Amino acid sequence: ETRVSARVGAIAESATLAVDAKAKALKAEGRPVIGFGAGEPDFATPEPIVRAAQEACADPRNHRYSPASGLPELREAIVTKTARDSGYVIQPNQVLVTNGGKQAVYQTFAALLDPGDEVLLPAPYWTTYPEAIRLAGATPVEVPTDESTGYLATLEQLEASRTPRTRMLLFNSPSNPTGAVYPPERVAEIGRWAAEHDLWVVTDEIYEHLVYGDARHVSMPVEVPELADRCVVLNGVAKTYAMTGWRVGWMIGPTDVIKATANLQSHLTSNVSNVSQRAALEAVSGPLDAVAEMREAFDRRRRTIVEMLGAIPGVSCPEPKGAFYAYPSVKELLGTEIRGRRPRSSAELAELVLEQAEVAVVPGEAFGTPGYFRMSYALGDEDLAEGVRRMAALLSEAK
Ligand code: PLP
Repeated sequence: ETRVSARVGAIAESATLAVDAKAKALKAEGRPVIGFGAGEPDFATPEPIVRAAQEACADPRNHRYSPASGLPELREAIVTKTARDSGYVIQPNQVLVTNGGKQAVYQTFAALLDPGDEVLLPAPYWTTYPEAIRLAGATPVEVPTDESTGYLATLEQLEASRTPRTRMLLFNSPSNPTGAVYPPERVAEIGRWAAEHDLWVVTDEIYEHLVYGDARHVSMPVEVPELADRCVVLNGVAKTYAMTGWRVGWMIGPTDVIKATANLQSHLTSNVSNVSQRAALEAVSGPLDAVAEMREAFDRRRRTIVEMLGAIPGVSCPEPKGAFYAYPSVKELLGTEIRGRRPRSSAELAELVLEQAEVAVVPGEAFGTPGYFRMSYALGDEDLAEGVRRMAALLSEAK
């Protein structure tokens, strides 16, 4: 029996935030927990961005309400940045500035979906998407992928899941939680298919700058220009500039969609904090050197974690090409005996790993694919190696 509405009562707690909270609580008790749970860079926000925010605090202009859709200067700068980074050419009235990418995700679904609509959602998926789709009254239709294909959905799979009710495809590359990056030809192929069937595509590009080796990020509406009128691009400063706590994201879409969504936002949150918007303005207008440095560190950690995970019997991990997550399969370990316990699911195994190895990971259940762990490698090199060593020591006791 619950007193809250059916709609809100049906929402599950964010598993990624829950794992992070549990790890932090154990740490506060003095236990040396190493956390692979949080999806955030371990770097400080670059100094010029912090300075811009400090100056903004002292400027009385920023003490007042500003336009709900974002500071005009920031919308302009996002237009310029988008052309620079992905080659997508847009106008300022196609940009809506939001409280983090998360608000952009929620509002996009709210603006485009009606009850009965279906959204194709390749799994493993970021844990927020299905909740936000259901809050809009629509139905997520999972399109499962696994490590055998590097977690990439094929056009055939998508087509097999399409019905007369399919209204939208959610596309996220580089992917949270798998680190998969769709090759340009596949992006183009999927985009043309979506355009042909009049589907909306929501493409979440928040990890656009975090790609490694020969992987390349391309933006679907650039590859398939005819899709632009039915496409929403999601992005934000969180992952590129180590700004998770500043809460600035944005959505890019056709002007009518942006106008309607701005109306929604004007009643929901109004403008994003002006100080954060000024910081974001500095971030997107500035150079990309800081992200290049972070990318180098992430790449080094990526290679370490993949190599170390690959050496654990029963664990298999395709090489992630982007973002800062590894997504190893632990299926072979389920049902084995480890320290007198017999974990049957990745959730139970993750709990055992936290208790016995003091290492926090997010189980695949959170991303629609039980049998996996998501491990963020956005933590210091030493902690990373020590954490995987501890986990390896525990898991190699499996019998
Ligand atoms: N999209 C993806 C795929 C993410 O992983 C995240 C954060 O974890 C976001 C969007 C939203 O980020 P934020 O709300 O911090 O800007």
